[in-house]
Amino acid sequence: LDDPDLWQLDAADVGRAWPVPGPEDNKYSQGVTGVAAGSAAYPGAAVLATGSAVLATSGMVRYAGPAADVVRSRWPEVVATGSVTDAGRVQAWVVGPGIGTGREGREVLAHVLGAGVPVCADADATTLMAHRPDVLDARDPGTPLVLTPHAGEFERLMGSPPGEDRLASVREAAAKYDAVVLLKGNVTIVAAPDGRVLVNVARGSWLATAGSGDVLSGLIGSLLAGGLDPWLAAGCAAYAHSLAGELAARGVPVSASGILAAIPDAVRVLRDSA
Ligand code: AMP
Ligand code: MG
Repeated sequence: LDDPDLWQLDAADVGRAWPVPGPEDNKYSQGVTGVAAGSAAYPGAAVLATGSAVLATSGMVRYAGPAADVVRSRWPEVVATGSVTDAGRVQAWVVGPGIGTGREGREVLAHVLGAGVPVCADADATTLMAHRPDVLDARDPGTPLVLTPHAGEFERLMGSPPGEDRLASVREAAAKYDAVVLLKGNVTIVAAPDGRVLVNVARGSWLATAGSGDVLSGLIGSLLAGGLDPWLAAGCAAYAHSLAGELAARGVPVSASGILAAIPDAVRVLRDSA
């Protein structure tokens, strides 16, 4: 662990980094998060990723995709449209959960990558990149990208599973994709292309539940829209996510909806420790 570039955030670090609106702020200046997620088959991914962005920080959340009606009925404060091309201006995009790995998903991903704003690409978006790397040609050079694979998605992105030295593997992925890479698991590892890496050790394993990752992607998106450095955004989101999981679970199984509902409590704890 004699690595000067290896970091671990504590509650105070995350609480200080969490965006707090000032008197001059309005809904736009606080950050508009766009969420391109979900499908007719998987509307829940859209509801979870969007809701997490709503509860985390954002001045405004826009949703674009086939689950617009479901999202609107669950989150009335969200501006929802059927297509990313009609989404309007956003300051960061979340793309991937539940979008599928077919042509439509690829078009959505290409649009978002070319939008000139930071992107958090999760789930099907990482699989699309692995299967069709040419979709990355759509990327606006210089716009931050955060990839959030679980172990299986990581293996697809890299062609082999994370090695014995997981830190080195995630750094390699960050360099290969010129992106912040967050490898999920009991210990979450977040590497930046410049070599910075942080670890977030989970508080119990209740977070390993369906939809949990969709909640994490919404948190990252809203911190990106709030202007955080992408490596810090991913690290702070991982911390807040596991804290929300712990607060929601308190020793019993928790649903992704439960993790989502505990986000305000988690942010309160983080802010109070700042
Ligand atoms: P996903 O696989 O996309 O639904 O994401 C799962 C989420 O649960 C990620 O935030 C992981 O870091 C977390 N997670 C998965 N397995 C564990 C585990 N054994 N202990 C703690 N957290 C976990
Ligand atoms: Mg996932």
